[in-house]
Amino acid sequence: MKCYRCSGVMVYEKFFGIAEEFFGWRCIFCGEIVDNVILENRHEQRKR
Ligand SMILES: [Zn+2]
Repeated sequence: MKCYRCSGVMVYEKFFGIAEEFFGWRCIFCGEIVDNVILENRHEQRKR
């Protein structure tokens, strides 16, 4: 998994959201966070 912003290395981590815990990818260089919901939304947008 590569960061779409800086092409850095991303690590799979557990995050604590407002209501629930979730897993997602975090860039160790720029701190960008991508979770499954974000990835799905991006995929949906690409289809349209
Ligand atoms: Zn990055």
